Order: sequence, then C-alpha cells, then structure tokens
Amino acid sequence: MIDYSRILELIKKYNTFLITTHVNPDGDALGSELALAYFLRKLGKKFHIINYSPTPENYLFLDEENLIQKYNREHDAIIENVDMIFAVDFNQLGRVRSMMNVFDRSKAYKIVIDHHRNPQNFVDDIFTDIEAPATGILIYKLIEAYDVNLIDKKVADALYAAIMTDTGSFRFERITPELHIITAELIKKGANPTYIYNKIYNELSYEKLILLGHAITNIKLVDSGKIAYMVLDRALLNKFVPNEAEFDVEGFVNFCLSVKDSIVGILFYELPYSIKVSLRSKEKFPVNYVAEKFGGGGHLNAAGIRFDGENLNDVIQRVITQTIEDLSKYIEENNA
Ligand code: 5GP
Ligand code: MN
Repeated sequence: MIDYSRILELIKKYNTFLITTHVNPDGDALGSELALAYFLRKLGKKFHIINYSPTPENYLFLDEENLIQKYNREHDAIIENVDMIFAVDFNQLGRVRSMMNVFDRSKAYKIVIDHHRNPQNFVDDIFTDIEAPATGILIYKLIEAYDVNLIDKKVADALYAAIMTDTGSFRFERITPELHIITAELIKKGANPTYIYNKIYNELSYEKLILLGHAITNIKLVDSGKIAYMVLDRALLNKFVPNEAEFDVEGFVNFCLSVKDSIVGILFYELPYSIKVSLRSKEKFPVNYVAEKFGGGGHLNAAGIRFDGENLNDVIQRVITQTIEDLSKYIEENNA
C-alpha cells in the first residue's frame, strides 16, 4: 500500500519540483507527469517537466500549454536546484539516459512513483504498486487523497490517456473493477474517451501505416508458432521514415500477438546507435524475466530491453533463444 499522505507531506514541505520520466515516454508516463504537474500548480507550487526524449507527436495534444521540455545541458542548473524530484513511471536510473548524472548529483529529495517490478535503489523514497495497471492510477489516488475536486477536465484527460494506453485500451491483465470505477470518475470529470483514443491511435501518417504493413508482412513465427516477431531494421526505416531518428512505433508489437496460438510477441527495432526490443505476452508468461536477463525490465505481459552498440542479428538470435528456453520451462511447469 502506498502511503499517499507521506507524498502529500513532502509536497507541502517543498516549493520547487522537477517531474521526469523514462526515455521514449508512453501515454502513461506523459499523462501521469502532466496530471501531477497540474495538481502541483493548483497547490501553488513551482514545477518543471523535463524529459530525456521529446514528446511523441500523437501525445502533444495532452500538453497544450507546452509544459514538457526536452532535456539539454542548460537544464542542469534547474535539476540541481529544485527541492524535490518526481521520477514517474520508471524505477531504474538508466532509463533517463544522459540525464542520469545530473539526476544523481542533484541534492533534491527524490522519489519514484511507479508500477514496475524490481525497483533500483536510486532515490530517497520509492512509492510503488506493481499491481497497479498504470502509474496514472497512482497519481489519481494521490490527488484523491488530497481533494478529489482538484481533478478537472485537464487532469482527467491526462489520467484517462495514461490509463487507456497502459491497459491496451482496457484489455490487458490487471483490469479490475476499481480501474473502471476510477475511469468512470475521470469521464464524469470531463475526460473525453473518443477524442483521446482518436488523437493517440488514429492519427497515423500514411508512411507509418505503410511501415506497419511491411512490419506485419514480415512477421516470423518460431518455436512452432508460439513466438511471433517483427523486425524494423534501418533499411526499412530509411525507406519509409528517413528523417526520423527514433520513430514512434508504439502498438506495432501487439500485432505479433494477433496470430492464433502465439504466446510471445517481440519487436526488434534498430535505432541509430542501439536496438530496442519490445516483448509482449499472453497468459501469465513473464516477459519481464526474459528482459531482465539482458538488463531490461517491465511487467509480466509487457517488457523491454535496449542493447547499445550490438549487432541486430546477434540480438535477435540471443533474445529468441532465451525466450524459447524460458517459454519451454513455463509450459512444462504449467502442464505439470
Ligand atoms: P515498450 O516495449 O512499450 O517500450 O515497454 C514495455 C514495458 O517495458 C514498459 O513498461 C517499459 O517501462 C518497460 N521497458 C521498456 N524498455 C525497457 C528497458 O530498456 N529497461 C527497463 N527496465 N524497462 C523497459
Ligand atoms: Mn506505466
């Protein structure tokens, strides 16, 4: 159980805050940051939201006041001098990439608010609930613990986006009655489900849709079809999205799991200097265990890894081999 009154005490005690989240922020990361920022503002506090990555285009509508800044060295003075830092939706320092040094040396009181497994000890206080389907739920409960009337339409939209995206639009594991009750409250406060869904998922550029088509065409099945994977290599990316260094491919990997009898879906995404791997699973197969073996992490059904400076084919082979091994153990244990 998270002690929300403790977080509220800290907020009351301090005046200036930094909110940050992980590299390649998703809807939960961004919605949680913004809702927290709006809350702090209502309490008369000063805040900065500074992220390592830029906000993906399909989430810009949530940040109509342009509150989120992309990190550069000029932010170091701010990060060093705020009273308190919120690390939202991540629990390992490396997830803020090159912001990690200034994060670490800042004298601010630092806390994590998150729902991933195995937190690293890099802050003063960790507020985590691995049962929570989204960090947005934790931010909701924090605001509720102070005064639920502070949830206005802006906060509600941000939290709705957070919860919708991290639950795969209310489909994944950990969907509970409580989740839907909170979501209903957000809609009562003005959150607009259709608008938010369309803004996030139905504004693909033509190039991105065609890229997705190619990625789907090239899906490969291994391990008798239990594992389906897709590869976005530089050649494919250069052809369709040549000008984007780190193109947003959220949602692509889920198509791997659309294949009948697949249990694990994997996306290998070749970035300029690294390879991003996204793992998804059905049932109770823990893809985060596979990810952790390579220094990544995540949840039971959704996890990720980053490989720096490695060869794409090697990475594919190593991750697939490990997944086959873990999956066969999982199947053995569950049939025994
Ligand atoms: P995605 O595949 O959508 O990037 O991430 C799925 C889940 O795995 C998210 O909850 C995300 O926080 C986590 N995740 C993704 N990449 C990494 C990584 O490199 N390290 C860790 N620890 N977690 C990751
Ligand atoms: Mn999350």
